[in-house]
Amino acid sequence: MNIQMVDLKRQYSKIKSQIDNAIHEVIDSTQFILGKKVQEFEQNAANYLGVKYAVGVANGTDALQIALMAIGLGKDDEVITTPFTFVATTEAIVMLGAKPVYVDIDPVTYNLNPNQIEEKITSRTKAILPVHLYGNPAEMDEILSIAKKYNLFVIEDSAQAFGAIYKGKKVCSFGDIACISFFPSKNLGCYGDGGMVVTNNDELHEKVRMIASHGSKVRYVHEILGMNSRLDAIQAAILNVKLNYIDEWNDRRNYFAKLYTEKLSSIENVKTPTQKDYVKHIYHQYTIRVERRDELQKFLSSKNIPTAIHYPIPLHLQPAFRGFAEEGSLPESEKAAKQVISLPMHPDLLEEEIEFITNSIKEFYS
Ligand SMILES: *Cc1c(COP(=O)(O)O)cnc(C)c1O
Repeated sequence: MNIQMVDLKRQYSKIKSQIDNAIHEVIDSTQFILGKKVQEFEQNAANYLGVKYAVGVANGTDALQIALMAIGLGKDDEVITTPFTFVATTEAIVMLGAKPVYVDIDPVTYNLNPNQIEEKITSRTKAILPVHLYGNPAEMDEILSIAKKYNLFVIEDSAQAFGAIYKGKKVCSFGDIACISFFPSKNLGCYGDGGMVVTNNDELHEKVRMIASHGSKVRYVHEILGMNSRLDAIQAAILNVKLNYIDEWNDRRNYFAKLYTEKLSSIENVKTPTQKDYVKHIYHQYTIRVERRDELQKFLSSKNIPTAIHYPIPLHLQPAFRGFAEEGSLPESEKAAKQVISLPMHPDLLEEEIEFITNSIKEFYS
């Protein structure tokens, strides 16, 4: 058995001719930056997500920074966010001189606990930045109603949740802006770096476009401070092909997640992930919570079963972000960081692989 955390080779072998043709079309056209393929993908992604505007950018980290620049986030502003996420979520805030104000996670969903948001709001709070972690939508109704009450922006970090659904609508369509990553291992991934900023707001859309393109609308006229952050045409061409499969792939992830949960639920030391009945969780990661996590990881590795820890150190305990929150002040995030482990998850898994993985976990705890 050759089990991968994410098996991009298996995926490519199934859609090879379409991908190869799409790449060659771009090379033949020599339109490498922006152009028709990028426009096409922006339109297709916006239609798919049910939003007005989609802007291709260089990666998901840039998407977050551009979104925060577009809302005018600046020095000493505060952004309410989660410490239990990939570093980029906090990085973008700190990069702009603003301060991340961490709210602890709900220990069941691993997402921002909406009941703890209001107590963290101050006169400097400018935005709430939830993450749909592992592909499980954050509690958007509660978050949006708090944002409305205090007049705050909501930026969705949807890097792990392309196609996930909350109460009948795709994530990315709830906040003022949403940010997407097409890093190869994401559930919609390209063959390099790529990202996207989406919004329904005309004014924010115009700002995002300008910021991503050196603060400029008219060539060589720079109205605001911007950067160079574009989605490559080759990546857009690949994404146009893959977008046709995303629902099928997300459904398969969901199916494999159910299978994992079925087989693991009898083990006392393992807590399987759950999904609320009003969401479609797309299982970018299938992450369980266990006792003796590090030992389990070694044991699985000895059987050539890859696993990953998302994430071993909550962001408030990272050396780069010292001083934003005390150790011990975000207990659920700190505890989760010690107990979570992600199992192989991708749409091309085989049932016998899941059987082998779950039997191995049973063996470890027996
Ligand atoms: C991957 C990821 C990002 C960053 O995306 P890149 O394309 O790698 O820059 C941001 N936030 C979260 C939650 C992510 O998982």
